[in-house]
Amino acid sequence: MQIDVQARCLDCGHQVPYTSGLTHCPKCGSAWLEAVYDYDVVRRLWTEQMAYRPFDLWRYHELLPVEEVPPPMHMGEGGTPLFPVQNLGMMLKQPNIYVKDERQNPTSSFKDRQAAVTIAVLKEAGLTDVVVASTGNVAIAYSAYASRAGIKLWAFVSSSVPLEKMREIAIYGTQVVKVTGTYDQTKQVAARFAQERGLYLDRGARSIPTVESMKTLAFEIAEQLAILQPTSRYGGRRWVAPDWYVQAVSGGLGPLGVAKGFRELYRMGLIDKMPKLAIVQSAGCDPMVRAWEKDSPQPEDVAVPHTHITTLGTGRPGRTYTLLYEYVKEHGGIFLRVTDEEAFRAMHMMAKMEGLSMEPAAAVAFAGLTQLVRQGVIQPHETVVVNCTGHTMPIESHILGEKWAEEVTAEEALAEDFPSEGLLTALSGLSPQYHAKVLIVDDHEPARILFRRILQSLGNYQLLEAPDGPTALRLAKEAKPNLIILDLMMPGMDGFQVLEALKADPETAHIPVIVVTAKHLTEAEHRRIEALARSLLFKGEFLSDEFFEEIRALLEE
Ligand SMILES: *Cc1c(COP(=O)(O)O)cnc(C)c1O
Ligand SMILES: [Zn+2]
Repeated sequence: MQIDVQARCLDCGHQVPYTSGLTHCPKCGSAWLEAVYDYDVVRRLWTEQMAYRPFDLWRYHELLPVEEVPPPMHMGEGGTPLFPVQNLGMMLKQPNIYVKDERQNPTSSFKDRQAAVTIAVLKEAGLTDVVVASTGNVAIAYSAYASRAGIKLWAFVSSSVPLEKMREIAIYGTQVVKVTGTYDQTKQVAARFAQERGLYLDRGARSIPTVESMKTLAFEIAEQLAILQPTSRYGGRRWVAPDWYVQAVSGGLGPLGVAKGFRELYRMGLIDKMPKLAIVQSAGCDPMVRAWEKDSPQPEDVAVPHTHITTLGTGRPGRTYTLLYEYVKEHGGIFLRVTDEEAFRAMHMMAKMEGLSMEPAAAVAFAGLTQLVRQGVIQPHETVVVNCTGHTMPIESHILGEKWAEEVTAEEALAEDFPSEGLLTALSGLSPQYHAKVLIVDDHEPARILFRRILQSLGNYQLLEAPDGPTALRLAKEAKPNLIILDLMMPGMDGFQVLEALKADPETAHIPVIVVTAKHLTEAEHRRIEALARSLLFKGEFLSDEFFEEIRALLEE
């Protein structure tokens, strides 16, 4: 390492040079140490050199506790994309939502950051065997990096971890030990095994390399936002912090590292504010949320988690919670819970509206975001970065329910006489449902794309689009749609006029209309619409199940 790394004790403040073997404060014995660096030197180096470095997590190596850069087993960890999600933004009426796509790491979750840095440090220390306890993704990521580094990994996983993940761990040559019990019990079993065998045990958030690895998320986000939102830079500050960082949380290592990263950027004068943290837990395993609601700095442990989302199964988060609590008290933010059902719904939504298929744990963050926007905790002008933490699990059967595919065998499908009515009849689910047609009227193209996308994901409907009132009236007369979705605010002929013209014409008067508006309506306008339209929807409320149900019901009448 070119820059000296010091380890500072969180309890007594004692500071010593960092070595990989250092696990406790030599003065007071505390296991909570944090890395500190010479930030003035780092700032100068980064200002001069950053433009010439590859975009992966090693570009920040001066603030990482490794010697060799990049380490020999590197394989493109970090440097994941940050991009806006417009359909979700329109549905929530929240224009500045960005996804940090951590699925695009080597083993498809953000645990690759932790694995890459930690295994590099352990390899430099000459270790050949490492023990880890995991809810799945840590073991997968560590396995991949351990195999490249020539380290034998012993992975202890709780029995509720999906078999697909266990097999993924095993394929790398890791010894998988399945423990019947909770994740917290599994950690204890792993610790005991490591102690008896005299092997190194990964200590999660209490080890310097893990927290340091997760900082790189903050660095990347701040650099990427500066490019995406150049007007947010000012006063010589080159990087940009978001207003919110949203993450699904189990043990809390991710936000702990991210918080440290933003603190370091602030200290170096690269950003001008600290983001608020939205820490989202599964309702079946919510020790941080329970404590937060009582304004307690100690977690309210959950002995036995009740959630399908095993990735988020830490019931005893310990001091990591206390550190996050202190951050949120100082800089703002919130701890909140979402149910498994909300997470599964968000999972469908993100795949169907944004093309992002993620594991249920990652979807927990998006379900949390939805709650926070609806409750007004996150404001429309604020910039939000959501960590899409991972996609390592094949979709479990309960996520999709019963009928999600049509089946036919080639032999039958290609036979001369198959079936008497033809292939399309056999594949009844692929024919447009009852030939239902929907006309989407909106002058704003992204809004039309969003409605098209909602309808495409609800069923096989024929979709027509009109960018203005006159086109809408012509198409309504010609095509006789079963439903019209009508924007109220359009230049020229507005939605009121279209509604009235539709009702005045006996050929179109019977077609149900769902009116959509972004504007606040007067009492009189409300009455006018109620008299003419089937229902009224406000932009930003498209995520409601009632809306989807209503469309389905209208089209299947
Ligand atoms: C580990 C993990 C989390 C939780 O992260 P922590 O910051 O450790 O609480 C969320 N999502 C996925 C996909 C994970 O693998
Ligand atoms: Zn100490």
